[in-house]
Amino acid sequence: MAEVSIVGCKDYKENNVRAALAEALSAIGGLDMIKPGMKVGIKVNLVTGAKPEKAVTTHPIMVCELIKMLCEKGAEVIVGDSPGGLYTSAVLNGVYSVSGLKPVEKCGGKLNQDFSVKTTKYPEAKVLKEFEYTGWLDNVDVIINFAKLKTHGMMGMSAAAKNMFGTIPGIVKPEYHFRFPDYDKFAAMIVDLDEYFKPVLNIVDAVVGMEGNGPTMGTPREIGCVIASRSPHKADLVCARVLGIEPQRLPILSDAIERGLCPQSLSELDIYGDVEKFHIPDYNNIAHKKSIVFNGKGFFRGLIFRIIQWAVRSRPSLKKDECVGCRVCENICPAKAIKMVKGKAKINRNACISCFCCQEFCPKGAMKVKRPFVAKILDKKT
Ligand code: SF4
Ligand code: SF4
Repeated sequence: MAEVSIVGCKDYKENNVRAALAEALSAIGGLDMIKPGMKVGIKVNLVTGAKPEKAVTTHPIMVCELIKMLCEKGAEVIVGDSPGGLYTSAVLNGVYSVSGLKPVEKCGGKLNQDFSVKTTKYPEAKVLKEFEYTGWLDNVDVIINFAKLKTHGMMGMSAAAKNMFGTIPGIVKPEYHFRFPDYDKFAAMIVDLDEYFKPVLNIVDAVVGMEGNGPTMGTPREIGCVIASRSPHKADLVCARVLGIEPQRLPILSDAIERGLCPQSLSELDIYGDVEKFHIPDYNNIAHKKSIVFNGKGFFRGLIFRIIQWAVRSRPSLKKDECVGCRVCENICPAKAIKMVKGKAKINRNACISCFCCQEFCPKGAMKVKRPFVAKILDKKT
């Protein structure tokens, strides 16, 4: 049995999707863990309401085909997520509708309608000792994590592990950015979430991924595959190679590797399928973390390390002519670093924590990720 599978899927036609899912899942042990009567929660990526062809959300045909497979096993299936913003029936049903997920109910599944919020303590966590989460996850026996492969302003890549951030209710997500402004801590928080919820399966929809200004306003890019694993991090290691990103540039994957949850290289993984066949050399990435290797131990070395980290940190940058002054970014910014000046967003650089919530949720894509000049030079040298 392989640890990760990668299987070709050239489009979202039902038959092709079904065949690819069946092959990818069978290679990692199939759906034998699903028993009749079991309640299965599919945690999709619904970061915001967007049509399937925008490649923002897990494609509805993929979700429907997985539901059919689970129903054949006698499972009861609930599909859910918490996008950014309010976590209410009105908002979520709008998001389901725009994202093309309504057919889920014709395929035998249900769309989550429980918008309760729970709190839990997690003393074993590295950083996330206590947190709020979406209560619907308590109503299922197992979770299947069904992600979308995209670039991500803050974490470089959004794939299996990052998808579990959607277990945090949308309205409090900015608070978590503020609690964990340091990228390594934010990444550790995501790994804690993966460890806490422990999805039994992780599937990544990489038939059409997103490149450029991801995870919501980038450009769709055909990749042509489905990736599956019992481990979100092992799935992500394969995703990173598909996009051509070194694992050490991805804070979440780096943290998982440090914890021993994932090997450092593909050569240490048992993979079904040919990863190189799906590798895209010119994928338009925005991975930016850890472009330099520097020992930050000791007071002065630590200080220099922090200064360099600050100097190379990517920042949000406004394309003024694309800003329509809607104030979404001002309202969502956890650091209160955005004010409207003459109808356009203006960022207070001293207050900004580079969480990229403004870039992620700007409905016009006017906020971009800007890589400082010094970081670009260092990137070329490392
Ligand atoms: S969300 Fe985007 S369009 Fe709206 S004010 Fe902010 S930058 Fe401008
Ligand atoms: S300005 Fe944007 S990147 Fe900076 S803290 Fe606010 S939301 Fe985050």
